[in-house]
Amino acid sequence: MPERLLEVRNLKTYFYLESGESVKAVDGISFDVEKGEGLGLVGESGCGKTTAALSLMRLLPSAGKIVEGKILFKGDDLVKKSEDEMRRIRWKHISMVFQGSMNALNPLIKVGDQIAEAIILHEHGISKKEALNRAAELLELVGIERRRVNNYPFEFSGGMKQRTVIAMALALNPELVIADEPTTALDVIVEAQILGLMRDLKEKLNLSLIMITHDLSIVSEVCNDVAVMYAGMICEYGDLREVYKNPLHPYTAALVRAYPSARGTRRRLYSLPGFPPDLINPPSGCRFHPRCTYATDVCRKEVPDIIDVGGGHYVACHLVRG
Ligand code: SF4
Repeated sequence: MPERLLEVRNLKTYFYLESGESVKAVDGISFDVEKGEGLGLVGESGCGKTTAALSLMRLLPSAGKIVEGKILFKGDDLVKKSEDEMRRIRWKHISMVFQGSMNALNPLIKVGDQIAEAIILHEHGISKKEALNRAAELLELVGIERRRVNNYPFEFSGGMKQRTVIAMALALNPELVIADEPTTALDVIVEAQILGLMRDLKEKLNLSLIMITHDLSIVSEVCNDVAVMYAGMICEYGDLREVYKNPLHPYTAALVRAYPSARGTRRRLYSLPGFPPDLINPPSGCRFHPRCTYATDVCRKEVPDIIDVGGGHYVACHLVRG
Protein backbone atom coordinates (compact mmCIF):
# COMPACT_ATOMS: atom_id res chain seq x y z
CA MET A 1 0.00 0.00 0.00
CA PRO A 2 1.63 3.31 -1.03
CA GLU A 3 2.26 5.76 1.79
CA ARG A 4 0.70 9.20 1.21
CA LEU A 5 3.18 12.00 1.83
CA LEU A 6 1.27 15.05 0.62
CA GLU A 7 -2.45 15.75 0.27
CA VAL A 8 -3.47 19.07 -1.22
CA ARG A 9 -7.14 19.84 -0.83
CA ASN A 10 -9.09 22.68 -2.50
CA LEU A 11 -6.07 24.99 -2.41
CA LYS A 12 -6.77 28.57 -3.44
CA THR A 13 -4.02 31.17 -3.73
CA TYR A 14 -4.86 34.68 -4.88
CA PHE A 15 -2.70 37.73 -5.57
CA TYR A 16 -4.07 41.08 -4.45
CA LEU A 17 -3.35 44.08 -6.68
CA GLU A 18 -3.13 47.71 -5.55
CA SER A 19 -6.30 48.34 -7.58
CA GLY A 20 -8.12 46.05 -5.11
CA GLU A 21 -8.62 43.34 -7.74
CA SER A 22 -7.47 39.77 -7.13
CA VAL A 23 -5.74 37.37 -9.49
CA LYS A 24 -7.08 33.85 -8.87
CA ALA A 25 -3.78 32.17 -9.70
CA VAL A 26 -4.66 28.87 -8.02
CA ASP A 27 -8.37 28.29 -7.63
CA GLY A 28 -9.30 25.11 -5.82
CA ILE A 29 -6.78 22.42 -6.72
CA SER A 30 -6.48 19.00 -5.07
CA PHE A 31 -3.89 16.28 -5.59
CA ASP A 32 -1.81 13.70 -3.71
CA VAL A 33 1.83 12.69 -3.78
CA GLU A 34 2.81 9.23 -2.52
CA LYS A 35 6.13 8.39 -0.88
CA GLY A 36 8.76 7.62 -3.51
CA GLU A 37 6.53 8.66 -6.42
CA GLY A 38 6.52 11.54 -8.87
CA LEU A 39 3.72 13.91 -9.84
CA GLY A 40 3.92 16.12 -12.91
CA LEU A 41 2.16 19.48 -12.66
CA VAL A 42 1.70 20.43 -16.28
CA GLY A 43 0.28 23.41 -18.15
CA GLU A 44 1.04 26.56 -20.12
CA SER A 45 2.87 29.54 -18.61
CA GLY A 46 0.65 31.44 -16.21
CA CYS A 47 -1.65 28.49 -15.42
CA GLY A 48 -0.72 28.63 -11.73
CA LYS A 49 1.71 25.73 -11.41
CA THR A 50 4.61 27.77 -9.97
CA THR A 51 2.20 29.58 -7.62
CA ALA A 52 0.96 26.17 -6.46
CA ALA A 53 4.58 25.13 -5.74
CA LEU A 54 5.38 28.36 -3.88
CA SER A 55 2.19 27.85 -1.86
CA LEU A 56 3.38 24.38 -0.82
CA MET A 57 6.71 25.90 0.27
CA ARG A 58 4.87 28.85 1.86
CA LEU A 59 7.24 31.13 -0.08
CA LEU A 60 4.68 33.34 -1.80
CA PRO A 61 5.55 36.96 -2.58
CA SER A 62 3.88 39.49 -0.26
CA ALA A 63 0.92 40.12 -2.63
CA GLY A 64 0.05 36.41 -2.65
CA LYS A 65 -2.12 34.71 -0.05
CA ILE A 66 -3.48 31.23 0.52
CA VAL A 67 -7.18 32.02 0.96
CA GLU A 68 -8.55 28.51 1.35
CA GLY A 69 -7.61 24.87 1.45
CA LYS A 70 -5.26 22.43 3.12
CA ILE A 71 -1.71 21.28 2.40
CA LEU A 72 -1.35 18.13 4.47
CA PHE A 73 2.27 16.98 4.71
CA LYS A 74 2.38 13.66 6.56
CA GLY A 75 -1.03 14.64 7.90
CA ASP A 76 0.07 18.04 9.23
CA ASP A 77 -1.50 21.13 7.63
CA LEU A 78 1.28 23.44 6.35
CA VAL A 79 -1.22 26.28 5.83
CA LYS A 80 -1.52 26.56 9.62
CA LYS A 81 2.23 26.55 10.34
CA SER A 82 4.02 29.65 11.62
CA GLU A 83 6.97 31.03 9.67
CA ASP A 84 9.34 29.57 12.29
CA GLU A 85 7.78 26.12 11.93
CA MET A 86 7.99 26.40 8.12
CA ARG A 87 11.70 27.27 8.37
CA ARG A 88 12.22 23.92 10.08
CA ILE A 89 10.24 22.08 7.38
CA ARG A 90 11.74 23.77 4.30
CA TRP A 91 14.87 22.08 2.89
CA LYS A 92 14.86 19.44 5.68
CA HIS A 93 11.55 17.88 4.61
CA ILE A 94 10.46 19.70 1.43
CA SER A 95 12.92 21.42 -0.86
CA MET A 96 12.70 23.10 -4.23
CA VAL A 97 14.81 23.51 -7.34
CA PHE A 98 13.70 26.95 -8.48
CA GLN A 99 13.30 27.82 -12.13
CA GLY A 100 16.61 29.21 -13.48
CA SER A 101 18.39 28.57 -10.17
CA MET A 102 21.51 27.23 -11.90
CA ASN A 103 22.11 30.80 -13.09
CA ALA A 104 21.87 32.04 -9.50
CA LEU A 105 25.04 30.22 -8.37
CA ASN A 106 27.50 32.83 -7.14
CA PRO A 107 30.32 32.99 -9.74
CA LEU A 108 32.85 34.17 -7.11
CA ILE A 109 32.34 31.32 -4.63
CA LYS A 110 33.54 27.74 -5.11
CA VAL A 111 30.76 25.23 -5.77
CA GLY A 112 31.60 23.19 -2.66
CA ASP A 113 31.51 26.29 -0.45
CA GLN A 114 28.08 27.24 -1.81
CA ILE A 115 26.65 23.79 -1.02
CA ALA A 116 28.39 23.76 2.39
CA GLU A 117 26.96 27.22 3.18
CA ALA A 118 23.43 25.94 2.55
CA ILE A 119 24.09 22.95 4.85
CA ILE A 120 25.56 25.11 7.66
CA LEU A 121 22.61 27.51 7.45
CA HIS A 122 20.12 24.73 8.17
CA GLU A 123 22.08 22.22 10.24
CA HIS A 124 23.15 23.74 13.52
CA GLY A 125 26.43 22.59 15.00
CA ILE A 126 27.90 21.15 11.81
CA SER A 127 31.53 22.17 11.18
CA LYS A 128 32.73 23.69 7.89
CA LYS A 129 34.89 20.58 7.30
CA GLU A 130 31.92 18.23 7.78
CA ALA A 131 29.75 20.40 5.55
CA LEU A 132 32.38 20.40 2.79
CA ASN A 133 32.70 16.65 3.06
CA ARG A 134 28.93 16.35 2.73
CA ALA A 135 29.06 18.73 -0.28
CA ALA A 136 31.57 16.41 -1.98
CA GLU A 137 29.31 13.39 -1.28
CA LEU A 138 26.35 15.27 -2.72
CA LEU A 139 28.27 16.15 -5.89
CA GLU A 140 29.17 12.48 -6.25
CA LEU A 141 25.51 11.54 -5.75
CA VAL A 142 24.52 13.73 -8.73
CA GLY A 143 27.32 12.38 -10.94
CA ILE A 144 30.08 15.00 -10.45
CA GLU A 145 33.54 13.99 -9.22
CA ARG A 146 34.25 14.90 -5.57
CA ARG A 147 37.35 16.90 -6.46
CA ARG A 148 35.15 19.41 -8.34
CA VAL A 149 34.06 20.92 -4.96
CA ASN A 150 36.99 23.28 -5.44
CA ASN A 151 35.80 24.53 -8.83
CA TYR A 152 33.96 27.79 -9.50
CA PRO A 153 30.60 27.72 -11.30
CA PHE A 154 32.17 29.12 -14.51
CA GLU A 155 34.21 25.91 -14.73
CA PHE A 156 30.97 23.89 -14.90
CA SER A 157 28.80 23.23 -17.98
CA GLY A 158 25.06 24.05 -17.86
CA GLY A 159 24.27 20.41 -17.08
CA MET A 160 26.79 20.34 -14.20
CA LYS A 161 25.34 23.57 -12.76
CA GLN A 162 21.87 22.03 -12.87
CA ARG A 163 23.23 18.89 -11.13
CA THR A 164 24.74 21.21 -8.48
CA VAL A 165 21.42 22.92 -7.70
CA ILE A 166 19.79 19.48 -7.50
CA ALA A 167 22.56 18.47 -5.05
CA MET A 168 21.78 21.59 -2.99
CA ALA A 169 18.08 20.67 -2.90
CA LEU A 170 19.09 17.23 -1.56
CA ALA A 171 21.56 18.60 1.01
CA LEU A 172 19.34 17.95 4.04
CA ASN A 173 17.81 14.67 2.85
CA PRO A 174 14.29 15.98 2.16
CA GLU A 175 11.42 13.57 1.54
CA LEU A 176 9.86 15.75 -1.17
CA VAL A 177 11.60 17.81 -3.88
CA ILE A 178 9.71 20.25 -6.09
CA ALA A 179 11.51 20.94 -9.37
CA ASP A 180 10.26 23.94 -11.37
CA GLU A 181 11.09 23.56 -15.08
CA PRO A 182 14.37 21.77 -14.19
CA THR A 183 15.52 21.33 -17.79
CA THR A 184 14.76 24.77 -19.26
CA ALA A 185 17.69 26.19 -21.24
CA LEU A 186 19.42 22.81 -21.52
CA ASP A 187 19.94 21.09 -24.87
CA VAL A 188 18.06 17.83 -25.49
CA ILE A 189 20.98 15.53 -24.65
CA VAL A 190 21.71 17.26 -21.32
CA GLU A 191 17.97 17.42 -20.65
CA ALA A 192 17.76 13.61 -21.04
CA GLN A 193 20.74 13.19 -18.67
CA ILE A 194 19.15 15.43 -16.01
CA LEU A 195 15.84 13.59 -16.28
CA GLY A 196 17.70 10.27 -16.01
CA LEU A 197 19.46 11.58 -12.90
CA MET A 198 16.16 12.66 -11.31
CA ARG A 199 14.61 9.28 -12.04
CA ASP A 200 17.63 7.49 -10.50
CA LEU A 201 17.62 9.74 -7.40
CA LYS A 202 13.90 9.16 -6.93
CA GLU A 203 14.48 5.41 -6.91
CA LYS A 204 17.74 5.35 -4.95
CA LEU A 205 16.58 7.74 -2.20
CA ASN A 206 12.87 6.77 -2.26
CA LEU A 207 12.28 10.44 -2.94
CA SER A 208 8.93 12.01 -3.81
CA LEU A 209 9.02 14.53 -6.64
CA ILE A 210 6.76 17.21 -8.02
CA MET A 211 7.90 18.20 -11.52
CA ILE A 212 6.56 21.46 -12.84
CA THR A 213 6.68 21.81 -16.59
CA HIS A 214 4.81 22.89 -19.71
CA ASP A 215 6.11 19.78 -21.49
CA LEU A 216 4.23 16.49 -21.04
CA SER A 217 7.12 14.49 -22.48
CA ILE A 218 9.34 15.61 -19.57
CA VAL A 219 7.02 14.27 -16.88
CA SER A 220 6.72 10.97 -18.73
CA GLU A 221 10.42 10.34 -17.96
CA VAL A 222 10.12 10.73 -14.19
CA CYS A 223 6.52 10.79 -12.94
CA ASN A 224 3.86 8.21 -12.12
CA ASP A 225 0.95 10.66 -11.97
CA VAL A 226 0.07 13.89 -13.75
CA ALA A 227 -2.15 16.86 -12.92
CA VAL A 228 -2.93 19.08 -15.90
CA MET A 229 -3.61 22.69 -14.92
CA TYR A 230 -5.51 25.27 -16.90
CA ALA A 231 -6.21 28.81 -15.68
CA GLY A 232 -5.60 28.04 -12.00
CA MET A 233 -7.57 24.79 -11.90
CA ILE A 234 -6.85 21.11 -12.49
CA CYS A 235 -8.70 19.88 -15.56
CA GLU A 236 -7.38 16.30 -15.62
CA TYR A 237 -5.52 14.19 -13.08
CA GLY A 238 -4.47 10.59 -12.76
CA ASP A 239 -1.98 7.89 -13.65
CA LEU A 240 0.37 9.40 -16.23
CA ARG A 241 0.26 6.51 -18.70
CA GLU A 242 -3.55 6.37 -18.57
CA VAL A 243 -3.94 10.15 -19.03
CA TYR A 244 -1.36 10.18 -21.84
CA LYS A 245 -2.97 7.21 -23.62
CA ASN A 246 -6.54 8.29 -23.06
CA PRO A 247 -6.75 12.08 -22.49
CA LEU A 248 -10.40 12.92 -21.85
CA HIS A 249 -10.24 16.70 -21.36
CA PRO A 250 -9.95 18.64 -24.66
CA TYR A 251 -7.07 20.70 -23.20
CA THR A 252 -5.06 17.59 -22.21
CA ALA A 253 -5.76 16.09 -25.64
CA ALA A 254 -4.37 19.29 -27.22
CA LEU A 255 -1.24 19.11 -25.00
CA VAL A 256 -0.65 15.46 -25.95
CA ARG A 257 -0.97 16.35 -29.65
CA ALA A 258 1.40 19.31 -29.19
CA TYR A 259 4.43 17.16 -28.32
CA PRO A 260 6.22 14.61 -30.49
CA SER A 261 6.02 10.99 -29.44
CA ALA A 262 9.30 9.10 -29.08
CA ARG A 263 7.58 5.94 -30.36
CA GLY A 264 4.87 5.24 -32.92
CA THR A 265 4.13 6.92 -36.21
CA ARG A 266 5.24 10.43 -37.12
CA ARG A 267 2.45 12.97 -37.03
CA ARG A 268 1.97 16.68 -37.51
CA LEU A 269 2.19 18.53 -34.15
CA TYR A 270 -0.83 20.47 -32.99
CA SER A 271 -0.83 24.08 -31.88
CA LEU A 272 -3.72 25.14 -29.64
CA PRO A 273 -5.20 28.41 -30.92
CA GLY A 274 -5.87 31.34 -28.55
CA PHE A 275 -4.31 32.41 -25.26
CA PRO A 276 -4.75 31.50 -21.60
CA PRO A 277 -7.39 33.71 -19.97
CA ASP A 278 -6.99 36.74 -17.72
CA LEU A 279 -7.22 35.44 -14.15
CA ILE A 280 -8.56 38.72 -12.74
CA ASN A 281 -11.78 38.06 -14.65
CA PRO A 282 -11.64 34.41 -15.68
CA PRO A 283 -14.22 33.19 -18.22
CA SER A 284 -17.57 32.07 -16.78
CA GLY A 285 -18.34 28.35 -16.55
CA CYS A 286 -15.51 26.19 -17.84
CA ARG A 287 -12.45 28.43 -18.08
CA PHE A 288 -11.34 26.61 -21.22
CA HIS A 289 -14.57 27.34 -23.14
CA PRO A 290 -13.27 30.30 -25.26
CA ARG A 291 -10.63 27.94 -26.76
CA CYS A 292 -12.63 24.71 -26.82
CA THR A 293 -14.08 23.43 -30.10
CA TYR A 294 -16.65 21.35 -28.17
CA ALA A 295 -18.02 24.19 -26.00
CA THR A 296 -21.81 24.38 -25.60
CA ASP A 297 -24.11 26.69 -23.62
CA VAL A 298 -23.71 24.71 -20.43
CA CYS A 299 -19.91 25.11 -20.70
CA ARG A 300 -20.28 28.90 -20.77
CA LYS A 301 -22.54 28.90 -17.68
CA GLU A 302 -21.50 26.13 -15.31
CA VAL A 303 -18.11 25.21 -13.88
CA PRO A 304 -17.69 21.45 -14.46
CA ASP A 305 -17.04 19.36 -11.35
CA ILE A 306 -13.94 17.22 -11.40
CA ILE A 307 -15.18 13.61 -11.41
CA ASP A 308 -13.54 10.19 -11.11
CA VAL A 309 -14.12 8.32 -14.37
CA GLY A 310 -12.57 5.16 -12.89
CA GLY A 311 -9.28 4.01 -11.44
CA GLY A 312 -8.38 7.41 -10.01
CA HIS A 313 -8.61 9.18 -13.41
CA TYR A 314 -10.26 12.57 -12.76
CA VAL A 315 -11.64 14.93 -15.41
CA ALA A 316 -13.42 18.30 -15.22
CA CYS A 317 -15.46 18.53 -18.42
CA HIS A 318 -19.22 18.60 -19.10
CA LEU A 319 -18.70 16.12 -21.96
CA VAL A 320 -17.32 13.46 -19.63
CA ARG A 321 -19.57 11.35 -17.41
CA GLY A 322 -18.38 9.18 -14.53
FE1 SF4 B 1 -14.80 22.13 -23.59
FE2 SF4 B 1 -17.12 22.31 -22.31
FE3 SF4 B 1 -15.42 20.40 -21.67
FE4 SF4 B 1 -14.88 22.91 -21.03
S1 SF4 B 1 -16.55 21.67 -20.25
S2 SF4 B 1 -13.49 21.45 -21.90
S3 SF4 B 1 -15.69 23.98 -22.78
S4 SF4 B 1 -16.47 20.65 -23.62
